[in-house]
Amino acid sequence: MKRGINGNDIKRTNRGLFLKNIAIGKAISRMELAKLTGLTKMTAGNITQELISMGIIEECGPIYAGTTGPAPQKLCIAETAPKIIGVYISRDEIVFSIGTLSGDIIYKSNIPLLNETSDSITQKLIDGIKTTEKSQNDNILAIGVAMIGPIDSDGAIVDSPNFFGIKKLAVKNIIENCFPYPTVVCNDISAAAVAEHLKGGEKLSNFVFIGNANGLGAGIIQSGELMTSNDLFLGEFGHITIDINGEKCPCGNTGCLELYASHNVLLKRLSDAVGRKVTTEDFEVLSKNSKCDEIFTDTAEKLAAGMITMTNILRPEAFILGYDGYFLPNKYVNIIEDKINSLRFLKQDKRISVFKARLKANSAIFGSIAVVLREIFKGEILFNN
Ligand SMILES: [Zn+2]
Repeated sequence: MKRGINGNDIKRTNRGLFLKNIAIGKAISRMELAKLTGLTKMTAGNITQELISMGIIEECGPIYAGTTGPAPQKLCIAETAPKIIGVYISRDEIVFSIGTLSGDIIYKSNIPLLNETSDSITQKLIDGIKTTEKSQNDNILAIGVAMIGPIDSDGAIVDSPNFFGIKKLAVKNIIENCFPYPTVVCNDISAAAVAEHLKGGEKLSNFVFIGNANGLGAGIIQSGELMTSNDLFLGEFGHITIDINGEKCPCGNTGCLELYASHNVLLKRLSDAVGRKVTTEDFEVLSKNSKCDEIFTDTAEKLAAGMITMTNILRPEAFILGYDGYFLPNKYVNIIEDKINSLRFLKQDKRISVFKARLKANSAIFGSIAVVLREIFKGEILFNN
């Protein structure tokens, strides 16, 4: 439902904004908060006091020591602040976590997925959330879910490839029917992009997060917001065609990027080259082998080709390599960055940087927490009443 902007909306938005700036460390004093939000010192002081009395933030020591008189106090998220349950549903496991309003994970467990039906996954989902919930003595505010797509507008996983042949898993409904918390669901790669955005202190406004595993997906942040289409997630980076006469892709098209450059394809090519099963731990050593170096370079060039296409359309400031893409040796990350910058259309633009995920291979786990934080920081969930 669309609402008009009224005084209450502004109040909620300001509280969300305050909390966000404290949580991501952008502003740590009343003075900085006033400056950043354009509010008067008095209003900033009042909102701060309100958040303190709600038990959400607390004063945690003077900002500088040794001054005479009362020193300004540093503000931080309070221990008593409510927590968020995160659920990350991938193709081979469900990861449950508890996150703080600062985005730190303080509890984590996982349940592997083996030969599942929609009933058995539903049971695992409910059991896992119950166990996670118990670890926090009822101080739960909401549940965030980062999950494989495609996702429909009701928050269900629909016809996801390689997902035990399950036609539909109504994740949002299942959780909301069993638990009293608001539930936010998001595609895992988009959630990972939101997590990287927050963890990076929102310094980048336009970037593309590339999740590289058995497929290739992109989470796109444009002007500081997650890009969606009719509220559905987008970014099928792996299905950019790089060879129209190429191999047939399960999606129906030919020559899709992920057939040539996904992490699983890279592992297979390297394994074939050295005659044994290769893992990410072997990458640095293998990069010194000339046959493997060629395979790594070829993969990097193909990834760059897809990223150049995205660059020409979106003009991002950066690409972040996440999931198993995090393990790509730096030499090839540099190759990708050089290729993009030398071959993109707008060469006069500022240099695009390509770097590995801050959250290493765990961006999606943090993402399940981050999608809830994103709503809270907009003034939703925590400040609705
Ligand atoms: Zn395809």
